[in-house]
Amino acid sequence: MDEDSALSAQPQAVVVLSGPSGSGKTTVVERLINESPVPLLKSVSATTRPPRPGEVDGRAYYFLSTEEFERRRDAGEFIEYAEVFGSGHWYGTLKTEIRRAAQQHAWAFLEIDVQGALTVMRQYPRAIGIFMRTPSDAEFERRLRARGTESEDIIRRRLNRAREELQFADRYRYQVVNDDLDRAVREIVEILAKQESELNA
Ligand code: 5GP
Repeated sequence: MDEDSALSAQPQAVVVLSGPSGSGKTTVVERLINESPVPLLKSVSATTRPPRPGEVDGRAYYFLSTEEFERRRDAGEFIEYAEVFGSGHWYGTLKTEIRRAAQQHAWAFLEIDVQGALTVMRQYPRAIGIFMRTPSDAEFERRLRARGTESEDIIRRRLNRAREELQFADRYRYQVVNDDLDRAVREIVEILAKQESELNA
């Protein structure tokens, strides 16, 4: 592939996963990367939020200053971006992440919030949207607190945000309840296998 066609290359498919933080998304994503029936390339998002302990730049996220994020946004480098919790922190998917998937002949896998997901699903009408829900509001709150990494204020905001996001769940092609990790992973594996056989039909 020459450089121009590599830059405009599209991945075979784009998978978008959303769900409240605390819905167990991160663990599900880690498992999926290994267990998926199709090659998935996890898009690494850019963010202006500071790294949490153990988060490595370029792996968990590309950690950018607000100025750098704005510069890249204004240069049109994102397919979507959003201020996720009204916290003043920005998150976005760089176009280069989608190209990286195409170049590796992998499906681009985006774990992003509802605002970003709606934007991506508009741009890629065939994107495979998956919304992950927790079994109940109370269970969700318990999980969020169990992480113990966030202040009360942020927990409150995330709970409110999750309730808002839930209203958009039916805009996704699939909804998966994460009441049991193995079952949730299995369900998504089945969704991906079904999509692959439709692509190749
Ligand atoms: P956290 O700060 O806990 O890592 O992520 C918070 C939220 O940001 C998660 O709900 C995640 O889905 C969302 N998020 C992460 N990356 C992106 C992105 O590139 N774009 C958008 N719109 N949301 C993102």
